[in-house]
Amino acid sequence: MAAISGKQRPASRKKSKTSLRVTRDLKARAIEVLDRLDGHYPQATTELDFTNNFELLVAVILSAQCTDKRINMVTPGLFGAYPNASSMAQAEPEDIESWIRTCGLYRNKAKNLVACARQLVAEHKGSVPGERKALEALAGVGRKTANVVLSNAFGVDAIAVDTHVHRLSHRLGFSKANSPNGVEVDLMAILPKNRWTKSHHTLIWHGRRCCDARKPACPRCPVADLCPGEQTYPEDIAAALLEDS
Ligand code: SF4
Repeated sequence: MAAISGKQRPASRKKSKTSLRVTRDLKARAIEVLDRLDGHYPQATTELDFTNNFELLVAVILSAQCTDKRINMVTPGLFGAYPNASSMAQAEPEDIESWIRTCGLYRNKAKNLVACARQLVAEHKGSVPGERKALEALAGVGRKTANVVLSNAFGVDAIAVDTHVHRLSHRLGFSKANSPNGVEVDLMAILPKNRWTKSHHTLIWHGRRCCDARKPACPRCPVADLCPGEQTYPEDIAAALLEDS
């Protein structure tokens, strides 16, 4: 068998070797952290509103550099005007822009949505494909978007690394990787496969509700004793953070 050249080997795999040392203790701590957070956020799931796979794909493409709350404000109108891939495929990007103008990068997203819808019609009979390769070939769809769609629409175990998952993975000592792909590989190495999807949601919920980017609420964090990134605050700030709960 021919040797796999460096070019053929996925970059993310190479990254995982340098990012962290996966030990039994690390795996056990990760499970304890996720068990506690799952108990704290039993309802954790995607906060995007959608009723079918097409709407999910559109919402996830729109969600780049934008909050789910904002996306949920624009998608009812957008889905009312363009309920499926064939109707969106007939639109021009300018038509879409007027519906999503309040989302960041709306011009680019409008272009991608129309191109994506046209690909769905031309190559997948208007349906959203359930295979990674086909998803990642769609306009506006990268690995993170594909992971969200695969896990939420098709039940595939996957960890989509967004800004929250990236930040928490670093603070919790689950990854030292700089790239989302590297963090994803590290998380896949320390968490059992059947926990990947739920852990992704749980970490996002914890990031939104407690482990804030600028001022994490460590005084009321249920996993503070397990977190190497725990921060200490002066008494008055700690008390205020406790009250925020
Ligand atoms: S202890 Fe602080 S830094 Fe660690 S997960 Fe909790 S809120 Fe985040």
